[in-house]
Amino acid sequence: MSSYDYDLFVIGAGSGGVRAARIAAKHGAKVAVAEEYRVGGTCVIRGCVPKKLLVYASKFAEEFEDAIGYGWTSEKVSFDWSVLIENKDKEIDRLNKAYIRNLEAAGAELIMERATLVDAHTVQLATSGRKITAKYILIATGAAPFIPRHLPGHELAMSSNEAFHLDHLPRRIVIVGGGYIAVEFAGIFNGLGVETILVLRGDQILRGFDDDLRNHLAAEMKKKGIEILTKADIAAIERSGDGVRVTLEDGRQIGAGQIMFATGRMPNTVGLNLEEAGVKLTPHYAVEVDEFSKSSVDSIYAVGDVTNRVNLTPVAIREGHAFADTIFGNMPRSVDHTLVPTAVFSQPELGTVGLTEAQARDKHAKIDIYKTSFRPMKHTLSGRDERMLMKLIVDGETDKVLGCHIAGPDAGEMAQLLGIAITCGATKAQFDATLAVHPTASEELVTMREKWKP
Ligand code: NDP
Repeated sequence: MSSYDYDLFVIGAGSGGVRAARIAAKHGAKVAVAEEYRVGGTCVIRGCVPKKLLVYASKFAEEFEDAIGYGWTSEKVSFDWSVLIENKDKEIDRLNKAYIRNLEAAGAELIMERATLVDAHTVQLATSGRKITAKYILIATGAAPFIPRHLPGHELAMSSNEAFHLDHLPRRIVIVGGGYIAVEFAGIFNGLGVETILVLRGDQILRGFDDDLRNHLAAEMKKKGIEILTKADIAAIERSGDGVRVTLEDGRQIGAGQIMFATGRMPNTVGLNLEEAGVKLTPHYAVEVDEFSKSSVDSIYAVGDVTNRVNLTPVAIREGHAFADTIFGNMPRSVDHTLVPTAVFSQPELGTVGLTEAQARDKHAKIDIYKTSFRPMKHTLSGRDERMLMKLIVDGETDKVLGCHIAGPDAGEMAQLLGIAITCGATKAQFDATLAVHPTASEELVTMREKWKP
């Protein structure tokens, strides 16, 4: 019999922690999971899921407009933020309960308390003070919004966490940052009728994405009325009436009802006693792990955003699953982080998989580019001035498709399927040999014949 209270103690019941706990329990391990806030983690409670519900809500404004070209009249439409938030919260409650049920059904014990490390095999619960031992400990505490606290008036700003629970929509909002969260929330607020100003320090949104995609999305966002201020840094925020006055480094001032920081996220490692227990952190305060998610302490592992590898829900889930299979299922496996399809639920949506053109040019001697930009069929009758972009990056020597980047309706859905083809190592010739589905936008992916010439 084990001399420990549990085989596995998981700290954090988000995507990675819950998956690891369930799989470990199914492999026969005695598992406990501690959670200080709500089961489901960022993705379910205040991330991907509620965000996508708000994206759906914000798109109806254009749907009503587009319907007119199809013969519909849509007079007297109105929108009630409080109804949306109430319904969104009900759905999040349902998912939260489903997560709890699934954990329990798998045989894992849920402890609704904050847990911190004591040593390589011991954790302490914050409220009860109880000490618990486990053969293995998994840190799956995720990440939290980073707010630049050196800025005067930063306490007047909110993060995406609070955006999900605003009492009412402001008339105007300033969003700071140009990453995933900034562009997604810019689309949400703008769609819901809020005058939206994006302020970012770089020269274009979404650093790290393919440049054509970045430029295309920025242009489309501007057409929808979003103002994008690049190379702009915030100097100070002050209260002004019911809202705020934001001063930029160059002296410009913007008045707004709200300011939201979407300036990245920091791993949740503070106060967990990690370093005292011998767990090494990276310079960005993430848990340093090897390919099997093992930390510098043999019995302590970490998965998901707290390790700051690829901070996406499906990656955390895969890492949690691989950890549980490795340790409790006698099936050692690591997660390949090189090819991760992803979507940005901006408006229009982005879907991307594989290398950007710049990355491909760095790594490969000869690159062929195929790209097309067109008006989606729906907008022939709606009259909306919106274009779709598709781009394939092909290794000129092997014909392998190295990357695919899409901006337009359902780009995320396409990225998932393209992820399969590109993971299988599909060549451009195999894309071309695939019959088109007509009339769709995605048929362009198998009908792009001409190499793009700059
Ligand atoms: P990102 O890392 O995507 O973007 C952060 C943005 O903030 C960048 O534009 C960055 O600029 C800027 N920034 C960072 N620090 C400062 C600062 N001190 N002052 C001004 N600007 C700053 O982070 P997000 O917060 O948008 O999202 C966090 C993570 O969550 C993402 O990386 C993603 O992994 C995940 N996510 C995924 C989603 C999806 O899959 N659809 C949706 C939402 C989040 P610069 O580029 O110059 O560094």
